[in-house]
Amino acid sequence: MTKPSRYRGRFAPSPTGPLHFGSLVTALASYLEAKSRSGRWLIRIEDLDPLREPPEATGEILNSLDAHGLFPDEPVLFQSHRHPAYHAAIEQLLDKGLAYRCSCSRKQLQAHHGRHPQRCRDGATATGQPFAIRFALQDELCHWQDQLLGPQQQTVRAEIDDPVLLRKEGFFAYQLAVVVDDIEQGITDVVRGSDQLDMTAQQIQIYRALDATPPRWLHIPVIVNEQGQKLSKQNHAPGLDNLKPVHNLFSALNALNQQPPQTLLSGSPENLLEWGCSHWKPEAIHLTSR
Ligand code: GLU
Repeated sequence: MTKPSRYRGRFAPSPTGPLHFGSLVTALASYLEAKSRSGRWLIRIEDLDPLREPPEATGEILNSLDAHGLFPDEPVLFQSHRHPAYHAAIEQLLDKGLAYRCSCSRKQLQAHHGRHPQRCRDGATATGQPFAIRFALQDELCHWQDQLLGPQQQTVRAEIDDPVLLRKEGFFAYQLAVVVDDIEQGITDVVRGSDQLDMTAQQIQIYRALDATPPRWLHIPVIVNEQGQKLSKQNHAPGLDNLKPVHNLFSALNALNQQPPQTLLSGSPENLLEWGCSHWKPEAIHLTSR
């Protein structure tokens, strides 16, 4: 009898706009990697910042994923419903002395080359001022293995790079929420765009601080437009046409250099996903851009 797979992967979009081709490629890569390993594939909506998220974007993203046959194996998780868990994690980090209050402005930090003029790390932040909560990084030359890119080495600078966990405006930050939720959802493998690559070493330290084991990571090159910019809402990447799921999935498989046969173009989204699963070769992905 084969042992049930423990693989748990996820796609975790921030709902800043509709699903565009670049996010479809990431969603598809994480889906195929999970399914080809008999794993479970989850969707998490990273709706942490209402000021950057048009209210309709979450519905649009979920509709698009449905239209492309990308159905999650468990109910969708919304970060906007997870505030108590983030509070608890911050309390835990503050108790351990691994997080601190900081009222420095970006300007002040720039003027001091990232050092905190008010010695925030020592608990010296003036009371009465609005403050953020930051994670206290440790100096480290962090080594980790990317499943596609191979050995990685990143320098983590204590104090200078300390990421915000809770912003002054009261919003929880990505660096905290992503780790807390990947732990909560038992994610073993993260497949995401390489625009997140530089975050990884800091996230490894946050995992350790929360007494958890980091997942494996596989970073895929981000899709760029003709000007070489990442497809994103800021660069006006158009939303996907949900009436053309086969065409979109076919193009996404090509963007991942999986070379699907033309005959699939007359099939259904399910046919493409099945073909993608049984022929999935992450090592074929072009590594030219990052
Ligand atoms: N929410 C992030 C984004 O949309 C992805 C985070 C991740 O996969 O770790 O870019």
